[in-house]
Amino acid sequence: MTRQRNINGISVAPGLTMGPVHVVRAAPDVVPSWSIPEDQVLTEVRRVHDAVEGVCDELERRREIVAEQANERDANILAVHAMIVRDPSAIKEIEKSIREDRLNAEACVKALIDRLESSLSALDGESIRGYAADASDPWRAVLEELMQSEKRDFVAGDEKVVLAASQLTPQVVTMLDRDRVLAIVCETGGRFSHGAVLARSFGFPCVVGLPNLLSRLEQGMRVIVRGDQGAVQLLPSSEDVDSFLVERSRLQARSEALRTQAQLPAETPDGHHVDVMVNIESIHDFETFEISHTDGVGLLRTEFLYMERAQFPSEEEQYRLYRRVFKNMEGRPVTLRTLDIGGDKQLPYFNMPKEANPALGWRGIRVTLQWKDLLRVQLRAALRASAHGELRLLFPMITTLDEVLEIKETIGELRAQLLEQGYEIAGNVSIGIMIEVPSAVFTLRQMIEEIDFVSVGTNDMVQYLLAADRDNPFVGNLYDPHQPAVIEALRQVAQIASEAGKPCSVCGEMAGDHMNALLLMGMGYDALSVAPNFISEVKYAVRRTTTQAAGEIFREAARERSGEGVRQVLQEAGTRLMAITAAELIQERPSLDDSSGDQIGKGNEGRGAL
Ligand code: PEP
Ligand code: MG
Repeated sequence: MTRQRNINGISVAPGLTMGPVHVVRAAPDVVPSWSIPEDQVLTEVRRVHDAVEGVCDELERRREIVAEQANERDANILAVHAMIVRDPSAIKEIEKSIREDRLNAEACVKALIDRLESSLSALDGESIRGYAADASDPWRAVLEELMQSEKRDFVAGDEKVVLAASQLTPQVVTMLDRDRVLAIVCETGGRFSHGAVLARSFGFPCVVGLPNLLSRLEQGMRVIVRGDQGAVQLLPSSEDVDSFLVERSRLQARSEALRTQAQLPAETPDGHHVDVMVNIESIHDFETFEISHTDGVGLLRTEFLYMERAQFPSEEEQYRLYRRVFKNMEGRPVTLRTLDIGGDKQLPYFNMPKEANPALGWRGIRVTLQWKDLLRVQLRAALRASAHGELRLLFPMITTLDEVLEIKETIGELRAQLLEQGYEIAGNVSIGIMIEVPSAVFTLRQMIEEIDFVSVGTNDMVQYLLAADRDNPFVGNLYDPHQPAVIEALRQVAQIASEAGKPCSVCGEMAGDHMNALLLMGMGYDALSVAPNFISEVKYAVRRTTTQAAGEIFREAARERSGEGVRQVLQEAGTRLMAITAAELIQERPSLDDSSGDQIGKGNEGRGAL
């Protein structure tokens, strides 16, 4: 059988890399099944024996505890469970299917469980059917042990790998030390899901939408991942590797050249400044970019800081964490978004109810206004930290004006309480809301009087405007930030904010694409907050484009009647901008007061003037 070597999917994060693949097959509720080559048979058999021994050790440990409590009957049941999984005929049956069916240990143990349950449950009698569960339960423990050991083996290694999984979830992205991940490739997952947000912020290439990917991979197989093109190449030939190396050095030269300009302000040739800020998901993010390249933190997604812990962080822990963020940012503003959990962002130690429509359910501010202590503790910590830097408080998933009023009242109470307790707090903490829910767009004229700034979360705004779940691949083509409805909503927000004289920014993933950044600048947004990886490219695009040219990009886009039409407008403008290649960038040897070179719309004579 010839193996298809080039697979195309959806680009989530750019970049180019090559390395051995590590397949994570374990997923909650799904028993992984894959074919194994002959030389893997003994390894899989050994895994079954190890798992059985692991389970028996645990059963013995529990048996001793139960026996000590003088509960002989239960202690005996645990001893019987150990006998069940040590049963030589059952183990032989599993070994036989590993050898003959050439399947992994998990699949063969699962097949044994199914056989046990169906043969016993077919018999008459309540007690016999109950025995079916008793006989299969210990084997379920073996299955769990096998699935855990796969994860443990992975976490224990030290090789750099391309992580391959069935689904792009935050758990997959954070599965191991980010220094060991070269890229992530997945069978499913949305371009704007929270797993994708993390992959982009971690800065490694990521491709999703690769059906049946896992069945084509073997552990350690070499692959090339082209994040920009959304492509994965399996078992590259030596010519493929050569062209990969050439392409990689070209891209490296280009990004190096861009980086040398990244400390320059994002100022258009006609002197208009746009704040280019950074989105932060983890304290480790500070190791991935130069502070001097940004105008501040435009979005601190605090829920990810909570996710990295085993329980809710106390006020003191949060205070120290936020103070550290201020210290890292060396006086630049920090926009702290309060806890935004719900949907696919779950805390391991906080049981949320199962909801039929989680995206329309208990999320973001809805959770923290109901569980007010969560909000109070976080706000107290943030207000205390405001003594160490410029704090902007941002509230997610705002739907009604009442929510805004309640938030302000809470902040007022906490401020008074903290001052009374002798804490030092900055006098100028600004309060902003995220525009994600359509009702916030339509009531912004009222809300804006109550707040200091707005920040548009396009990831959610797009899903709610178009009623297309950001995580659902079935509506993936409808989830489109370039749809005219989205462009119009973005325009309205920028206009209302500008009329009210309040700053407005975009912190959704959309802003990280440099052509979208120009479109947003053309609408009047004065700040963009992007993942660390995109700072230099966005700043470069801003520095090459006059406000007039950006305005023209927006006006042209606004005349289009489809997402495709808007993309075409951006593509044409992008081609003109990108006519400056990496080689030219290097030739230019940019100096710190660089004001030369090609620009979109420079006067009317520059190449690509619009
Ligand atoms: C957004 O919705 O655009 C946003 C920035 O928030 P998140 O992606 O964390 O939901
Ligand atoms: Mg959001």
